[in-house]
Amino acid sequence: MEHDPEILRGAGRVSDILDEAQEKTERERAASIGRATAALRGEAETHCVSCGDEIPAARRAAVAGVKRCVGCQEDLECPR
Ligand SMILES: [Zn+2]
Repeated sequence: MEHDPEILRGAGRVSDILDEAQEKTERERAASIGRATAALRGEAETHCVSCGDEIPAARRAAVAGVKRCVGCQEDLECPR
């Protein structure tokens, strides 16, 4: 029997949903690890301590106790 293209499309959708669920789980895990370690590393700053730019909420959620924006953190870790 030939493969039913409807079934193949359905499988594609299922794997998209699984990928999405996995991504969501990983984001939530990263966020909860961030929250758990924030207490150890101190509160995250809402604004970069180096340049004063606002640190995006997503970065604050992802990086525990973040103090600097992406640009300043990179300068700190890899001085040019
Ligand atoms: Zn900065």
